[in-house]
Amino acid sequence: MSKRDLYEVLGVGKNATDDELKKAYRKLAMKYHPDRNPDNKDAEERFKEAKEAYEILGDAEKRSAYDRFGHAGVDPNMAGGGMGGAGFADAFGDIFGEIFGGGRRGGGGGPQVYRGADLKYTLDISLEQAATGFDTEIRVPSWENCEVCKGSGAKPGTQPQTCRTCGGSGAVRVTQGFFSVQQTCPTCHGSGKEITDPCVACDGVGRIRKNKTLQVKIPAGIDDGMRIRSAGNGEPGVNGGPPGDLYVEIHLKPHGIFQRDGDDLHCELTIPFTKAALGGTLEVPTLTGRGEITIPEGTQTGKVFRLRGKGIRGVRSSYPGDLYCHITVETPVRLNEEQKKLLRQFESSLTQGGEKHSPKSESWTDKVKNFFS
Ligand SMILES: [Zn+2]
Ligand SMILES: [Zn+2]
Repeated sequence: MSKRDLYEVLGVGKNATDDELKKAYRKLAMKYHPDRNPDNKDAEERFKEAKEAYEILGDAEKRSAYDRFGHAGVDPNMAGGGMGGAGFADAFGDIFGEIFGGGRRGGGGGPQVYRGADLKYTLDISLEQAATGFDTEIRVPSWENCEVCKGSGAKPGTQPQTCRTCGGSGAVRVTQGFFSVQQTCPTCHGSGKEITDPCVACDGVGRIRKNKTLQVKIPAGIDDGMRIRSAGNGEPGVNGGPPGDLYVEIHLKPHGIFQRDGDDLHCELTIPFTKAALGGTLEVPTLTGRGEITIPEGTQTGKVFRLRGKGIRGVRSSYPGDLYCHITVETPVRLNEEQKKLLRQFESSLTQGGEKHSPKSESWTDKVKNFFS
């Protein structure tokens, strides 16, 4: 595949200044960023192309290699040394963070700043709690500045020194063949400071992990797997970066009677065969108390009765869902002689009557007859 000229990709002239390159790249990156163009293959290609072009032209040494040798001078597959993937990401991270506000800031030297990691907290709740919502407290890890060293990480009486590896910039340049790549300083991890005499209380980290109590509001209707975000309560940032967020993930405990399906509830109701045959009223459980349904004569196993509005009103729903009662007809057990006698009398009265009393088994018997004939 032949590659387009990199200056053409960014839409600038051969003698564009660094500032012009950066501006041109920002414009394209904003326009074609995948977050703004979901499922757009063309935009994705243009975004990648611009990113690659800026990675090369935005770096003085790579740009001069490209000017002299064209793509062959900067193609990682053709160049002798090859480029580390981390190097590319690093070169890109700086400008990218500036554009979108995330990731690191301060690409032009100085300590490298990172946002803290997000934390996840799993909260087990009952179906009743999910239906009504509630306020609760959770204990989560937090970090406080070490009192002994006042957050510096250096033993009291000593000072963090300027990092000798990077001279305080937080980054080092690694030369590979033609190119040199900027990387986070391995000694100070980007802070630009080196602690020669670490604080004993915090191991030189400058912070101590503690727990804190957070108030969390669980909205009515919340469902299994949903997450509530608590901004800024994640891990602290690095070198003064913003903290991450805490996510409370809901885990719904199984319920003894109801199964939840979105806004609807399902339950199983077992009834004696006499009630199924004669019909009548039936008490049913609902989340808010007792309910009642009327079942008709001749109700069969598998019949489902719907109680409108007796489900759960979801977080984003205007109406509550329904409650579905699934009927199972039960056969009586441990009959005494008197009861068995009554049942036999009952059975013979059914066969003498000439009516069809068992709609399902009679049609099934007919099917079997047809199958054998
Ligand atoms: Zn300390
Ligand atoms: Zn350093």
